[in-house]
Amino acid sequence: MSKMEIGKKSCDNEKMIDLMKDYREIFWLNPGVNAEECNETPPAVTVNDIDEAEARLIRFAPYIAKVFPETGKTAGIIESPLTEVPELKKALNADEKQELAGSLYLKCDSHLPISGSIKARGGIYEVLKLAEKLAVEAGLLSYDDDYAVLAEDRFKEFFSKYSVAVGSTGNLGLSIGIISAKLGFKVTVHMSADAREWKKALLREKGAIVTEYEYDYGKAVEEGRALAAKDPKCHFVDDEASVDLFLGYAVAGRRLAKQLKEKNISVDNEHPLYVYIPCGVGGAPGGVVFGLKEIFGEDVQCFFAEPTHAPCMTLGLLTGLHSKISVKDIGLDGVTAADGLAVSRPSALVGRLMETRLQGCFTADDERLYPYLNKLYEGDGIFVEPSACATFRGPYLVEKVYGDMGKKEFKKATHILWATGGSMVPEDEKRSYLNLR
Ligand SMILES: *Cc1c(COP(=O)(O)O)cnc(C)c1O
Repeated sequence: MSKMEIGKKSCDNEKMIDLMKDYREIFWLNPGVNAEECNETPPAVTVNDIDEAEARLIRFAPYIAKVFPETGKTAGIIESPLTEVPELKKALNADEKQELAGSLYLKCDSHLPISGSIKARGGIYEVLKLAEKLAVEAGLLSYDDDYAVLAEDRFKEFFSKYSVAVGSTGNLGLSIGIISAKLGFKVTVHMSADAREWKKALLREKGAIVTEYEYDYGKAVEEGRALAAKDPKCHFVDDEASVDLFLGYAVAGRRLAKQLKEKNISVDNEHPLYVYIPCGVGGAPGGVVFGLKEIFGEDVQCFFAEPTHAPCMTLGLLTGLHSKISVKDIGLDGVTAADGLAVSRPSALVGRLMETRLQGCFTADDERLYPYLNKLYEGDGIFVEPSACATFRGPYLVEKVYGDMGKKEFKKATHILWATGGSMVPEDEKRSYLNLR
């Protein structure tokens, strides 16, 4: 039995946790994947909800195209390219001393328009849904209107009576801040200690109020939630529990399916799809996984990547405790250069939904992130932020571990690394990541 395989048995979970306590890299396969869900409670999220989210984003497309001209190419649909990364593959092959058999793609959410990260999916969706609800209830908008009217001053004035708040490690704040300010809402972003300075500065420039905390992400969310609860006209975007955020991310599944079809990439029993996504609290990657599993079922295998210093989702799934356990409880510090992943406690909503949908998790040392970032930039000319690099070893782990378990054929496999952020990083910051100082 291979060393990796033992991670599937619950009696070995303790061994995994011991390794995690030592900040060691692990690879864990989820024994519950593809199992029947026990339906004690009504499902938190249904396929019908994703249909609705998709339709809502289409209604808003004329507005988005009007106020964010950079979305003109896609007529107001916020989407990113799927691109092959042959040079990264060569560099990683050399690094890992292993020839990757499957093809390697990057899903460039790092280059999503408006806020330059995966948060442009869920974050923007939640605020749009709020705006639609308020405007329709006030009799100012109906579902079959051309939503471009929302750009008119009378709407801005209407929304200015309401406010939006969010707690964030940075990118969710950027996404919520930018769209809320554009619509006319008052917006407050509660930023954790890990948030980069440039993200705070950019938000202030866009008209958001930025509150800074000395503590980590969980605390920023908690404080933000408490403050927002005191104001009935304030909507709090709850990254730890929001179904709307989740649905905005889940729409990515169908969009990716369409892109794969356009590229003539088959996904079926013979042509498996492997998707690797960096995970913080779990909302963004969890939503994407939910959307992908709904379409591809067992033909897609999804993995989360986390930093060795903050593997909160892995710990929550392994123990079954989800949000009831923090990485601090096993002595980890939660400090990482992957600022978007610096989260100690996972989302309860998402953890449970991942029990039957996520194939596995692995962790990455911080030391890997900058070399990976540089390899992608030097090779394929794509810049991503450190958090977005946590996945790069994933395809190699999978081919190696599955190979050891007897599955040798990967030539027809497609591996997708989900790049989650990077295009908004300012030039000087970028140069320092790239050792170009
Ligand atoms: C937010 C974020 C993630 C992870 O999303 P969660 O919803 O926190 O799990 C990954 N990478 C980047 C760059 C992010 O900003």
